[in-house]
Amino acid sequence: MGVSVNSTYLTASSDIESYSERGIDIPEHIKENLSKLQHKGDSITGSVGEFSMSDVSLMSKETGVEFAHVTVGDTTYLIRGDVKCTVIPYHLFSKMKKKGGTWDFHSHPHNDDCIPSDSDKNLIKKLSRYTGQKESVIVTPNGKTSTFSESGVISVGTIPNKIDADRQRALLELFGGK
Ligand SMILES: [Zn+2]
Repeated sequence: MGVSVNSTYLTASSDIESYSERGIDIPEHIKENLSKLQHKGDSITGSVGEFSMSDVSLMSKETGVEFAHVTVGDTTYLIRGDVKCTVIPYHLFSKMKKKGGTWDFHSHPHNDDCIPSDSDKNLIKKLSRYTGQKESVIVTPNGKTSTFSESGVISVGTIPNKIDADRQRALLELFGGK
């Protein structure tokens, strides 16, 4: 049991070809994170600010599934979902309620799909009641972002382009088109 976050697209398969399928190296730290997030519901923790939007966008592109990024106190959680949704486990959600955690962002697995689903909007509505959080962010595999509230999209943008040299080659794929 937990809180489910659905993406808008309900197709069974992702339209995105992974980096490794195209013979592009993904950065080591992302490979390492992915190796610990092999199944729906798997989660990893890090310090605040770990697992950046560009990393998570790349992870969705690589796997074709969603990931949700949550911070409670000094710990960041990254949870693997599937192609349609990510479930924030009940124990984590109650910790968020108790300690004022934030649902920082989540990824959708389809290019350009940064429209919040009904369950995305419901979750932010719930959080606004429990913790006061009124907005969260969606990030797509091709680097688009949207900030949304319980009533829908507030603004759209792109992932802040602060990337280290290590990631540049892979991210050129995201931002550079073909
Ligand atoms: Zn969503």
